Amino acid sequence: MKPPRFAYHDPVSRHEVLTLLETYADDAKILAGGQSLVPLLNMRLAQPAHLIDINRLPDLTYIREIAGNVAIGALTRHCDVENSPLVRHLCPLLAEAMPYVGHPPIRSRGTICGSLTHADPAAELPAVLLALGGQLHAESTAGDRTIAAEDFFVGALQNALTSQELLTEARFPIAPPRSGAAFVEVSRRHGDFALVGVAAQITLRADDTISSAHLALVGVDETPIRVQSAELLLFGQKPDDELFKAASERASSNLKPNSDIHATAAYRRTVAGVLVKRALTLATARAYSHLPER
Ligand SMILES: Cc1cc2nc3c(=O)[nH]c(=O)nc-3n(C[C@H](O)[C@H](O)[C@H](O)COP(=O)(O)OP(=O)(O)OC[C@H]3O[C@@H](n4cnc5c(N)ncnc54)[C@H](O)[C@@H]3O)c2cc1C
Repeated sequence: MKPPRFAYHDPVSRHEVLTLLETYADDAKILAGGQSLVPLLNMRLAQPAHLIDINRLPDLTYIREIAGNVAIGALTRHCDVENSPLVRHLCPLLAEAMPYVGHPPIRSRGTICGSLTHADPAAELPAVLLALGGQLHAESTAGDRTIAAEDFFVGALQNALTSQELLTEARFPIAPPRSGAAFVEVSRRHGDFALVGVAAQITLRADDTISSAHLALVGVDETPIRVQSAELLLFGQKPDDELFKAASERASSNLKPNSDIHATAAYRRTVAGVLVKRALTLATARAYSHLPER
C-alpha cells in the first residue's frame, strides 16, 4: 500500500523543526527512523498532512554520560546503542534489551527516542526506561521540559508529549556498583514484539542484601508497568529462590492483561510470573559476578 499524500519537510536546525511543529501541530508527525511511522502511513493508520524529517539534525545523534545518566539523543540509532561500550558498562539493562528490538535492519534505522515515543505496549525500551526511573527531555517553541518515565507512557501508542513538542533526549540512570541486569521475553519468533517481557536490575550491598530492585513488565497492559510492590518485597533481603518466587507471585497476581489473537490473559499472567523469577535470578547472578568497584 502507498501512504496518503503529505508535505515533506527536511529542516536543518532544531529551531526550524520546532517552528514547523508549532505551525502544523496536530497535522504533523516527526519522521526519525521511520520503522514504525512508515508502516503506519502505508497502512493508512496515520494520515498526517505534514512529515517533519529530523534526519538532517546531526547534533541529535549522541550517547553521553551526564549527571548520573546515560543520555541518548533523539537521532541515535538502536544499533549505535547496542554496540556502545559505554552503554554496556554504565547501563547494562539497556544493553541487554537491545537485541530484542526487531531485527538488525530495523535497528540500523530505528531510534531509541522513536521507540519510546511510539509507546507500543509490547515494546522493550519503554520498560527499561520505566524500570530504571529514567527521564525524557522535550522541547517546543514554548520552552523545554523534563518528563519522568512514569508520566510519559499514558496509553497504548500514547505518550505525554504535546503535538508541538520534539523529544530531544532520553536519560537512562547509570547502574550503581554491584548491579546486575536482565531483560527476558517470550515472543512467537525472535524479533517479534514481546508477548510478555520483563526488565530487571538488582543492586547488592557488601553484605549481599538487596539495596535496590527495579522491575518492569511489557505486554501485560496498555502501557509498560513498574511493579513497585515486588520491588519493595525484595528490598533489604538476601536473594534466594524463595524470595524470587514470592516476588514473582506478587508481580503477576495483580496483573490484568487483555486476551487478544496472540495470547490469552491467563497465559500472559502465567508467563509474566515465570519471567519475573527468571529475570531476577539472572540479574542477581550478574550482580554477584560484578567487581565491588568499577
Ligand atoms: C518488522 C518490525 C519489527 C519490529 N519489532 C519491534 C520489537 O520487537 N520491539 C520494538 O520495540 N519495536 C519493534 N519495531 C518497531 C520499531 O523498531 C520502533 O518502534 C522504531 O525503531 C521506532 O523508532 P523510529 O526512529 O523508527 O521512529 P519513527 O517510525 O520515525 O517514529 C515513530 C513515532 O514516534 C514519533 N517520533 C519519533 N521520533 C520523535 C521525536 N524525537 N520526537 C517526537 N516524536 C517522535 C513519530 O512521529 C512517530 O509517531 C518493529 C518494527 C518493524 C517494522
